[in-house]
Amino acid sequence: MEEIVIIGSGPAGLTAALYAARAALNPLLITGNELGGQIATTTDVDNFPGFPSGVTGPELYDLMQKQAERFGTRAVFDEVVEVDFKHHPFRLKSTSDELEAKSIIIATGASPRKLGVPGETEFLGRGVSYCATCDGFFFRNKEVMVVGGGDSALQEGLFLTKFANRVRVIHRRDQLRAGPSLIERMSKNDKMHMVWNSVVKQIEGGNGAVDKVLLEDTRSGSQREEPVSGVFVYIGHEPNTQLFKGQLDMDHEGYLIVDSRLHTNIPGVFAAGEVHDKVFRQAIASAGYGCMASMEAEKFLAELEHRGYPGKTDV
Ligand code: NAP
Repeated sequence: MEEIVIIGSGPAGLTAALYAARAALNPLLITGNELGGQIATTTDVDNFPGFPSGVTGPELYDLMQKQAERFGTRAVFDEVVEVDFKHHPFRLKSTSDELEAKSIIIATGASPRKLGVPGETEFLGRGVSYCATCDGFFFRNKEVMVVGGGDSALQEGLFLTKFANRVRVIHRRDQLRAGPSLIERMSKNDKMHMVWNSVVKQIEGGNGAVDKVLLEDTRSGSQREEPVSGVFVYIGHEPNTQLFKGQLDMDHEGYLIVDSRLHTNIPGVFAAGEVHDKVFRQAIASAGYGCMASMEAEKFLAELEHRGYPGKTDV
């Protein structure tokens, strides 16, 4: 039986693991399929304290994992497919194992929101991407589009200018949501161009790769085709909470509901990071939540120990 299982390997999960390991809880961290979470697909991280010259997302992930492992975290590359929080100890089923745990920290984060237009799934990995860091290299001297008007769209669009000869940002309004520093960087970059009041209606291609998109003007409703080789989608995120439906309380968007100490509605199950935080959504905030959830889990386990572990009970 595990003392503590952490689900997810982003900044929240890895920080939770670091604290749990240092509290001698011998944590098991189940990484999920997306190793490192969103941070591992971010190009440059300039706002994580301790890195005055910035750090790349994959580097930061690597350093965090090494630090967590240094104190005894056992990280396994696996995916949890079923949970039972109705009985204590909790039960988890992964693709390769079944286990029991006295406490759980859910740090499954959030995943990129999809456009939901024809061609998006069909051309995934063949022109459609949610990760400029991963796929930008394939668009050397080509034209790409970035969809969205937030910080991610501009930051990743700027990164894509290293490869592409033109990056058009497709935004549904005439005003950006992104912050002033990225807007200023974009305005100084000759390869970046804004396409205002437009949405992607369809992604099309030939020979198995994207070659054009159908855009619609959000004011007039008129449609036009534009040739392009790559479409990078940055229109926000959705929490990864499907697995917990019916067992953990969540809001109408699917974010887990926690109290100020990151307890879910089930004692012994905690949440950390973007799986509950739809306000701040920063790597450093998620790391902070990981620390808090771990300290609360440690307290829960100490109390359990103090009362004398009751064995199997209904929650
Ligand atoms: P975001 O701030 O939620 O922006 C999403 C953008 O996508 C918005 O401009 C939104 O349009 C647009 N959008 C949403 N649904 C759409 C749809 N169905 N079709 C077309 N457009 C759609 O998400 P984000 O840019 O990923 O940023 C998430 C968080 O991370 C933010 O807090 C951000 O500050 C932070 N972040 C910070 C940095 C940095 O500091 N360097 C870098 C990346 C991210 P509307 O504007 O019309 O709503």
